[in-house]
Amino acid sequence: MQDISLIQEDPSIAGIITREAERQENEIELIASENYTSLAVRTALGSILTNKYSEGYPAKRYYGGNAIIDEAEVLAIERAKELFSAEHVNVQALSGSPANAAVYMAFLEPGDKVLGLRLDHGGHLSHGHSVNFSGRLYNFVQYGINPETGVIDMEEVRKIALAEKPKMIVAGFSAYSREIDWAGFKAIADEVGAFTFADIAHIAGLIAGKQIANPVPIFDVVSTTTHKTLRGPRGAIIMCKEKFAKQVDRAVFPGMQGGPHDNVTAAKAVAFGEALKPEFQEYSRQIISNAQALSKALISKGYGVVSGGTDNHLLVLDLSVLNIGGKEAEQVLETVGISVSRSTIPNDPKPPLNPSGIRLGTPAVTTRGMKELEMEKIANFIDRALKGKDDVKVLNEIKTEVKCLCQEFPLSL
Ligand SMILES: *Cc1c(COP(=O)(O)O)cnc(C)c1O
Repeated sequence: MQDISLIQEDPSIAGIITREAERQENEIELIASENYTSLAVRTALGSILTNKYSEGYPAKRYYGGNAIIDEAEVLAIERAKELFSAEHVNVQALSGSPANAAVYMAFLEPGDKVLGLRLDHGGHLSHGHSVNFSGRLYNFVQYGINPETGVIDMEEVRKIALAEKPKMIVAGFSAYSREIDWAGFKAIADEVGAFTFADIAHIAGLIAGKQIANPVPIFDVVSTTTHKTLRGPRGAIIMCKEKFAKQVDRAVFPGMQGGPHDNVTAAKAVAFGEALKPEFQEYSRQIISNAQALSKALISKGYGVVSGGTDNHLLVLDLSVLNIGGKEAEQVLETVGISVSRSTIPNDPKPPLNPSGIRLGTPAVTTRGMKELEMEKIANFIDRALKGKDDVKVLNEIKTEVKCLCQEFPLSL
């Protein structure tokens, strides 16, 4: 629902928003990093708090008139502390990548050595890829996942850490479906004297919902986006041990950023409030159960799933059994109204632009109320679309069925 003033003031943008709302309403969203925010989150985001400048931190601002804004930032901090059992939280980071830049700035000098997960094995650009600031400023060495098991081999991580002696070890991923051995990473880091940094951008909601293990009490510093499983506004937070609080805060401001986005900070507080409710634990449990149901249904149709299943909200589907690449699969599924993202599989024989897999995630479909039965239907749609990719009639039929299923689970955007 849109404010009448936007429709009058700017019909072009108002029209785009209406059409995008229809797309979100009528299509199945399986992109593992996406979700639907609540109206309460969006109300805070679209509020007059966007008018304020607040460089600095609560009670230590470089601008006047911040007494009320301070209350919003303090609420966001207090709720995040409770949600993740964190000693210190910075809620000003603008997004996941800038949050990670601030973490590196807080703990490292340019050129320092860092150990992180390879992008093509499920890591993130900001964990040392050569085209990203992280790979250009710091000396990243990488660990991968075992191509046989699809799982991170902790012995291998330890071997690389002992040989390379990194100053920091990064654990975290964008496309990995197994639980991470936080204590194992911490033990290796202690052995080589490295800082521990967890990037829980993808799984923060599942941790907040108490469905998977929390690295915050174990690691030195943890970053997360707030817009993925956590179902908040686009943005990020950084959590750390109290002894690192000053250096983390200074890296965010004035190190990386100027003024915080106070409307986003308030929306983060709203999302954390939602995640603190008992219903959020049930929501997180259902996300995982749905991902497992989707994985099982696709395996039963003969597809490969990297690591053979999932412990979290996502799975990487190996399409090698069909004669179709990840890019084409992404496009075919888009024509029937199913959004997915192409993904590499470990030791992918195909190039990154058209890799052998697609990544599927269940946070968004779970938000709209879908359960295991719907996951079986979705697995059917995917299978029929990929096999019938050249048959326009089949694709049109599936598109209609996708829309029908979505209408059974309205978002009421
Ligand atoms: C999504 C993601 C980020 C980046 O977040 P942006 O908000 O897109 O900058 C960082 N790290 C991991 C592991 C992610 O999955």
